[in-house]
Amino acid sequence: MPLILLYIFDSLRPDFLGCYGDRAALTPHLDEFAARATRYESAYAAAPWSKPSGAALLTGRLPRAIRMTQLLDPLPPDVPTLAEAVGRAGWHTVAVSGNPFISHDFGLLRGFDEMVEAFRPDVMPQEPFRFHRNHFRRLSTALSVPPEALVLPRSAALHRALLDHLGDDAPTFALCWSMDSHAPFFVRGERSHFGNPLDRVIPAADEEWLRDGLTVAEMVRLYRDMIAYNDAEFGWLMAELKARGRWEEALIVVAADHGEAFGEHGHLGHTHGLWEEQLRVPLLVKFPQQRAGARRADVVSLLDLWPTVRFALPHDAPDPDWAVPLPRESQAPAPPRPLLFDAPDRWAMRRGPWKLHGPTSEAQPLLFNLESDPAERRPLVEGPLQRALWDEADALMARADAEATGWTRAAPVDSADLRARLRHLGYL
Ligand SMILES: [Zn+2]
Repeated sequence: MPLILLYIFDSLRPDFLGCYGDRAALTPHLDEFAARATRYESAYAAAPWSKPSGAALLTGRLPRAIRMTQLLDPLPPDVPTLAEAVGRAGWHTVAVSGNPFISHDFGLLRGFDEMVEAFRPDVMPQEPFRFHRNHFRRLSTALSVPPEALVLPRSAALHRALLDHLGDDAPTFALCWSMDSHAPFFVRGERSHFGNPLDRVIPAADEEWLRDGLTVAEMVRLYRDMIAYNDAEFGWLMAELKARGRWEEALIVVAADHGEAFGEHGHLGHTHGLWEEQLRVPLLVKFPQQRAGARRADVVSLLDLWPTVRFALPHDAPDPDWAVPLPRESQAPAPPRPLLFDAPDRWAMRRGPWKLHGPTSEAQPLLFNLESDPAERRPLVEGPLQRALWDEADALMARADAEATGWTRAAPVDSADLRARLRHLGYL
């Protein structure tokens, strides 16, 4: 039976994978997968944190076009989701999520027939790891769960749950969202491949920990171990799919929802910055019966998944305007288009080789040429090009904002006493 599997490694940077050229990586299973898949070398998330990026991926629309830019906003109830659309075409739909944002509460699992919210303590009580109290603080308050109670499921547990729910007698659309490459930083498996002590835990990518004597190099070493662990478990999942005869016919998308900063521009982690290390993602797509690996240099977006699985969609489900199909192995280059990126307090846009960071309350706009300066080190002198790109970004944002007004407004995720408790805790 056909299978579409969308596999997300949370916070995974492409330049930490062997198949993207990192010689220090221990990612043999992703590298082997890439050898039979199409590798997109310049793929972007729509936003640098899980909720808006996941919303863009699962709806094919820019986060600001569906009002998914703020912490507690749920998906408006009338925004069509990819899972709903493939479900209408007769596909069985399954989601296994380790991320509390990729949840029923936020509307992002709407359309899935079955969902395993593995971050809930009652769903995977056997998983021993928890998020640190400094992580997902406001989110967990909204969900009425203390952060320390939110389970951090390992990918091995997610994969077993996924296989249990795949079903054999219907075409299946499956989402698997792993948190093994997301903070907290610690060795997930039983041994370290990079010399890390097994009891070392860095709760979050936060400058606060650097003051305690931690170095960025230590964080990176732990990050490598986390990726290696997830890679090994990913290899196990692929082997199981092969053993069950589900692999050859499957369309398998491997991606991340955003990257992670390790001080390249003075910050750690993700969420607020729109630098390449936070927005660039790995994107590997094995199309059904694809035999050989391919590479594409086109600038593509995770928004583009929707029209890429058009074969699984009803004829009357229109493709979202923001998305175009991912170009296949031997197709002509995709027509250039602007990609807009949104963080809660800033925006940026990529257009051809150019990347414009919009102005913020602290900073002037910055323009880079990514072909000659891929690390965004040398901003160009302000001029007519910057003005033209800024105008184009303004037009895109106006279009997205106009679309956003058309959806039904849903109340923020909020329990009855949330505001009182937030005030009590000092957040309001
Ligand atoms: Zn994320």
